[in-house]
Amino acid sequence: MHKDIQEILFTEEEIQLKVKELGKQITADYAGRNLLVICVLKGAFIFMADLVKAMDIPLEIDFMAVSSYGVTTKSSGVVKIIKDLDIPVEGRDVMIVEDIIDSGLTLSYLIDVLERRNALSIAVVTLFDKPARRTVDLEPDYKGYTLPDAFVVGYGLDYAEKYRNLPYIGILKEKVYSN
Ligand code: 5GP
Repeated sequence: MHKDIQEILFTEEEIQLKVKELGKQITADYAGRNLLVICVLKGAFIFMADLVKAMDIPLEIDFMAVSSYGVTTKSSGVVKIIKDLDIPVEGRDVMIVEDIIDSGLTLSYLIDVLERRNALSIAVVTLFDKPARRTVDLEPDYKGYTLPDAFVVGYGLDYAEKYRNLPYIGILKEKVYSN
């Protein structure tokens, strides 16, 4: 697993500090509200778990799964709900927890769905942002790091369902997905 990594971008310790910072910020901004936190599966599952522990406010969590890249590293532009929410969003303050915003297609689709379901407010927190690759006009409300245009794995993020359990974030060697 580790031998497939070209470079470690963020260590486990660095990520933990960043997530605590984000949690503190969100805690301050959402004081007195009852947030519904939505984890976009599967890539955001570790971030979500660490983030909610750093949010000192009453909240509920739910999960949503949308179609991903499959075994390639490019977005197809086609988004499909694979697992829907259990908790109704109507009239709720919701926060979407994403791992990475790349083209932004996944997120703009999700925001659209939640708007149509009459959420009271919709905020987005992403651990990583790749603004250089954006094809839709979209800015997260909270973000951890801006990433270069490279394919990263670890801390929940996969390549072909592998590497999610790496505690750090690294760039995958190109030869892993080019053959
Ligand atoms: P978008 O719709 O913004 O193009 O794609 C967002 C999704 O693509 C992310 O939630 C993530 O699952 C996946 N993704 C985008 N960039 C990367 C990357 O560098 N590594 C991994 N593992 N997944 C990525």
